[in-house]
Amino acid sequence: MNLTSSHPFWSVNNGLPANYPSLQRDVSCDAVVVGGGITGALVAVHLVEAGVKTLLIDKRDIGTGSTSASTALLQYEIDVPLRKLIQKVGPAAATRSYQLCSESIGKLERLAARLKIDCGFERRPSLFLARHQREIPELREEFKLRRAMGLELQFLDSAAIEKRFHFARPAALLSRAGGQVDPHRLTHGLVAAGKRAGLEVCDRTEMQRMDQTRRGVRITTKSGFKITARRAVIAAGFESKALLQGEAGTLLSTYALISEPLPKIAAWHRQCLIWESGSPYLYLRTTREGRVIVGGEDEDFVNAKRRDALISQKTRTLVNKFARLFPEVKLEVAFAWAGTFATTKDGLAYLGVHPRFPHAYFALGYGGNGITFSLIAAEIIRDGFLGRENSDSSIFRFGR
Ligand SMILES: Cc1cc2nc3c(=O)[nH]c(=O)nc-3n(C[C@H](O)[C@H](O)[C@H](O)COP(=O)(O)OP(=O)(O)OC[C@H]3O[C@@H](n4cnc5c(N)ncnc54)[C@H](O)[C@@H]3O)c2cc1C
Repeated sequence: MNLTSSHPFWSVNNGLPANYPSLQRDVSCDAVVVGGGITGALVAVHLVEAGVKTLLIDKRDIGTGSTSASTALLQYEIDVPLRKLIQKVGPAAATRSYQLCSESIGKLERLAARLKIDCGFERRPSLFLARHQREIPELREEFKLRRAMGLELQFLDSAAIEKRFHFARPAALLSRAGGQVDPHRLTHGLVAAGKRAGLEVCDRTEMQRMDQTRRGVRITTKSGFKITARRAVIAAGFESKALLQGEAGTLLSTYALISEPLPKIAAWHRQCLIWESGSPYLYLRTTREGRVIVGGEDEDFVNAKRRDALISQKTRTLVNKFARLFPEVKLEVAFAWAGTFATTKDGLAYLGVHPRFPHAYFALGYGGNGITFSLIAAEIIRDGFLGRENSDSSIFRFGR
């Protein structure tokens, strides 16, 4: 499956920071992580740091799947608002999910700092903008629920929005927790740090088959080598659907652009992350170099050809939507790209053991905030290997 159009910004900008040898022998290990995107990289680092003998494989180069296309807003806000998530999964699981996503932003920041990964991590507040007056009562309820669970946020009415941004919108939530990163550099930095700690890494190594054995798993690579492990971790992104036969998640095509560097936009309060409600939604962030990323315009995924054929049209729409918010800014598009991602009915990722694969953990970072789920997955899976109970694992289990 082709996960992104040919030029996602990060891999064009960064080139290939490192490559690794492909697997050319049979091996055995405690854990084999299949997939070297942000999820596999986080899982692998957590495992090696916990003393688990780990092999990471990827059929492409590291970080060139969906991770290279990700706009990498780090938000605690799950695709499904808290008030709706409470109805779907109950108050305890819903509030805990929001809390976990919020905590994971700080954990990613500390991990990148501790491992000295230069990945442009920056803290940013997060603005959720309502588009219509009729959304105000729901937003007030959302505000109360989030405040009650301890999240730091403000309710902004139209006057408060105009003071900070100059555009007119009926209401918004401005949250303290949020961040942004270069996901490609973060992934490469994690894999390099994992390698220094004893991780074995093989790219251009494709899992073709996975068999469950009495004691673990046996993976056969496309080149015919065997990997025997106590457990596999399937962090193969949206291609994991092939193993799960379409059970988890719905695929969408999504679009993004990045501008040429711009002078600081004064009417953009603290260069916060911006998410505007609606279907399709719109989101914006900046980068350390002063570029602006605009994304959204999702539609059902049909095939990669159709997805990529729409890039020019979707880019025009994104530019026009940006201009409605910041009419005084002349935005010049440097790159535009498309990617595929998956959503679930409750907006939560699927993490954990699948009944058909008792010796494999799945780490499927689905949804608009897949990266925060990747961190949560790494912790749950690490605890599973260490035989530690993790009470959060049931929130993300298959068949919930
Ligand atoms: C345009 C776009 C914008 C996004 N914006 C955001 C955002 O703002 N914030 C956010 O948190 N998330 C965002 N996401 C989602 C986020 O990018 C994903 O959740 C995340 O990148 C998934 O990472 P991953 O490691 O699970 O998957 P991937 O990066 O796809 O990595 C999976 C890896 O597995 C490998 N693989 C697959 N099959 C095999 C096999 N059989 N054998 C060996 N290797 C295999 C692939 O080659 C790939 O490298 C966005 C996604 C897109 C497309």
